[in-house]
Order: sequence, then C-alpha cells, then structure tokens
Amino acid sequence: MSAVDKSPGQVFPAKCNHCSKPMSAPLVCDYCHALNPSAEVVDYFTLLSLPRIYEIDPRLLRDRYLALSRHAHPDFHGDDTPEVQQLHLRVSANLNDAYRTLSDPADRAAYLLNLLGGKTSARDKSVPNGFLGTMMMMQEELADARENDDKGELERIRNVLTCQHDGLLNRVASLFAEYSQAVACEAVRNDFLDEIRKQLNAVSYVKKLLSLL
Ligand SMILES: [Zn+2]
Repeated sequence: MSAVDKSPGQVFPAKCNHCSKPMSAPLVCDYCHALNPSAEVVDYFTLLSLPRIYEIDPRLLRDRYLALSRHAHPDFHGDDTPEVQQLHLRVSANLNDAYRTLSDPADRAAYLLNLLGGKTSARDKSVPNGFLGTMMMMQEELADARENDDKGELERIRNVLTCQHDGLLNRVASLFAEYSQAVACEAVRNDFLDEIRKQLNAVSYVKKLLSLL
C-alpha cells in the first residue's frame, strides 16, 4: 500500500484513489470529494482527522463527525455504482462507531490505550490500591439503602460514585498527558499505560455500580 506518515502513528494514502491528487485527510479527497476506501482501515482518530490524543475538543469531534457523515451519507449517492454505494454505507457505519467511541471519555481512553499498545481489560484486571476495599464498602451501603428503601442515602451513594467516576477519569487524563511527555523512555511509558488500564478497570467497576442505582 502506498502510504505516507502524516504524523507519528497516522498512516493513510498519499494519493486519492479516484483522481490521484495528494490527500491531506484520509476520508474525503480535497479535490474531487470522493470517499477513499482506505478510510476503512484507519483508526477512529485518523478517520475523523483528529490528533491521536485523549484530550480532544468535543465540539471539533462533533463538527468533524457531522461534516464527514453528511459527505458519506448513502442517500446522497443514489446514482453511483453499487460498489460506491456499499463503500458509503460502510464508511457511514464506521463514522458512527468512531463518533460513539470517541465521544465517551472511558471508551475513548480504552480505545486510545489499545492503539498505544496498552493491555486489554481481559489481560490485566488490576485496579488501583485500596479501590476494591472502598467499593466493597459502597456495595454494602448500597445494599442497606435499597433494603430500607432509603432514597436520601441512595442519592448520596449515587453522588459519591459519580465523584469517584469523574475523579478516575481526571486521573486518566493526566496519565495520558504524562505519557505523551515521556516519549523518549519506553519503560516509563509502559508504566503509564499499565496505570491507565488500572484506572479504566476501576471506571468500569464504578459504572456497573452506578447502573444498579
Ligand atoms: Zn480525488
């Protein structure tokens, strides 16, 4: 595949497969506005022409998604060949998946962690020190509050869990920032990735508890 590096980790074709003009973004050609099938193999950040970082601007994400979705929408390409229509359908579905994943902070973090070579939750189930003890206490309090149908206490627990959830994601954000500053040292970078995995495992745990409320 003919490809150029636009920035570290982002690879997409140098030329439009339709008009052969140079491409500045992976999905839509600047010149002929054709969709390029290679867009199907790039990651979600690259697909939406966003930097591969955790802290993305939610408005920019939404704008890019809406603009590209309009472009890729299968209804606008009724006159095209079945192959082109199929491509538009697949790219539309990809854009929806990309937007859904990147607009949720925990899903975006897990997706980015995977791109950076971090461990999956299946491979590493560890959580931060002291976290399980706190969660077991919360679960007991939650069970008591439900048994007594104590609405005030349930509300308090919901607030505590929401704060826990937000605090964990703030920690994830700073870990990603520290990770990007530790470019030169692979061992340290892997420590950050392992720590992000722990925090994300804890986020899943807190989300499960919140879903019971
Ligand atoms: Zn083109």
